[in-house]
Amino acid sequence: MYKIFRVTAVALAAVALLAGFAGNTYAASEGDSDSVSTHEVAPGVFSFLSDSGYHSMFVVTDDGVAAFETVNSKHSLQMLKAIRAVTDKPVKYALQTHNHWDHASGGMIMQKAGAQTVMHKLAADWLAVNPGRDTSPPDMVWEGARKDIALGDVTIQMHHLGLSHGLGMAVFVIPERRVAYIGDLVTPNRVMFSIVPDFNITEWERTLVEMMELEFDVAVCSHNDLPAEEAIKGCTMDHVKEEHAFIGDLRNAIFAEFKKGTPPFKIPSVVELPQYSHWNHYKDWLPLNAQRMLLDMWMGPY
Ligand SMILES: [Zn+2]
Repeated sequence: MYKIFRVTAVALAAVALLAGFAGNTYAASEGDSDSVSTHEVAPGVFSFLSDSGYHSMFVVTDDGVAAFETVNSKHSLQMLKAIRAVTDKPVKYALQTHNHWDHASGGMIMQKAGAQTVMHKLAADWLAVNPGRDTSPPDMVWEGARKDIALGDVTIQMHHLGLSHGLGMAVFVIPERRVAYIGDLVTPNRVMFSIVPDFNITEWERTLVEMMELEFDVAVCSHNDLPAEEAIKGCTMDHVKEEHAFIGDLRNAIFAEFKKGTPPFKIPSVVELPQYSHWNHYKDWLPLNAQRMLLDMWMGPY
């Protein structure tokens, strides 16, 4: 069952034809050397990695397929091909975690394939005012903290745990398979993203604690910097805990510099967290992470 499919994008033109997208700008043509990976992380649940570096997920049931995170049109088309390599069941839903263009684009590919795209109202409202070049209005919008979709023998729980990152952030859980899909909130083996854009850090911490109560053991994380052969297997509840610990450890390290009398604006260049020095972007992003956290301490979270 735990088999990695290595699929070159050479056959994408054929998929484009099958899906009726011949001529689409994003359809890869013969000779492309792009490669993608699909891996079954739980029975009937697959992680999918495209050459974009983003991880998506899809679940196959007798009543159809649900795909999680469309990313962009090229990624979506590659995911459609990966789905077709596993099943000929129709794609019923394409769910998107939040409003950011780098996650919520590419929905049109799934819509043309017959799927309904799904996002939280807070994300949909923002995208209606700030459309990206590759975004499309969702077919299904949900509100509040929780909504479920039944598909075949599984339930897709959609959790909006309040402020964390972006707008309308959803964590998707399939309790019957003990699997989740997590966009941006957990990034294994990597420090926080750059200047920590559009994160409310304290609300993010609260969200991570609430995520520890959700019904999953394995998740597919949109960004996963573990070695490739591990990353395709997804992340775990331990990575949720690690993400939470990192944020607290960085804050404590900044406080320790305050106590030493380090001038505040020197802190980002001197703060160290050696226990995370093996994480990706430790050298270039840790100072940016610290700068952002300092500003939060000074101004309050934003
Ligand atoms: Zn984002």
